[in-house]
Amino acid sequence: MNLILLGAPGAGKGTLSAYLIEKMGVPSVSTGNILREAIANNTPLGQQAKEFMDAGKLVPDQLVIDMLRERIAQDDCKNGFILDGFPRTIPQAEELDKIASIDCALALEVPDEIIEGRMTGRRVCAKCGATFHVSTNPPKAEGVCDACGGELQLRKDDKPDVVKHRLEVYHEQTEPLKAYYEAQGKLKCMDGTKGIGETAELAVKALGL
Ligand code: AMP
Repeated sequence: MNLILLGAPGAGKGTLSAYLIEKMGVPSVSTGNILREAIANNTPLGQQAKEFMDAGKLVPDQLVIDMLRERIAQDDCKNGFILDGFPRTIPQAEELDKIASIDCALALEVPDEIIEGRMTGRRVCAKCGATFHVSTNPPKAEGVCDACGGELQLRKDDKPDVVKHRLEVYHEQTEPLKAYYEAQGKLKCMDGTKGIGETAELAVKALGL
């Protein structure tokens, strides 16, 4: 199955996709993770993307479309994939329709106030990328990753003013994708405000897995 997870930044797409990888036996492709890796490795793509990402803006369509095309052409995506963070604009969705056949777009619905709390409390391991939350999923020792002992950091784009801007960008440019996939008969919506256990159950039901 070729699945798209739609939802605002911080709606829980990354957490849900980590669960669905096991359940569906296909990889998840997070454009945000690919871009952050490119920045960490200081590649030409990373250098171009950094300024946009730090400011909470979208990286230009052509850059992410080329990057996505290359990623889903890889062998591990042959039997399907879960897209987390792509498409984010109508032109991206139109390009995606030319290179892959999408089975379903599952939208996680979460009100903005909850998103703001989730993102500003999120801490990410600088070494292995594991994610924690200061109140809902705290690490055993403050500021230290349970998995690898790396330092936990607040992502630059999770700062409160940047989060507000990312939500505006989401409503303006990404939310219209719901109508796009609805018109194709591929949209499924679900409540994304619950904990991971319940969210996973809702997703399994919605997708008929
Ligand atoms: P994420 O980890 O999915 O929240 O993405 C973090 C940042 O990466 C976003 O705020 C954008 O700057 C950039 N980004 C990720 N995916 C895309 C995309 N499909 N289109 C444009 N920018 C993206």
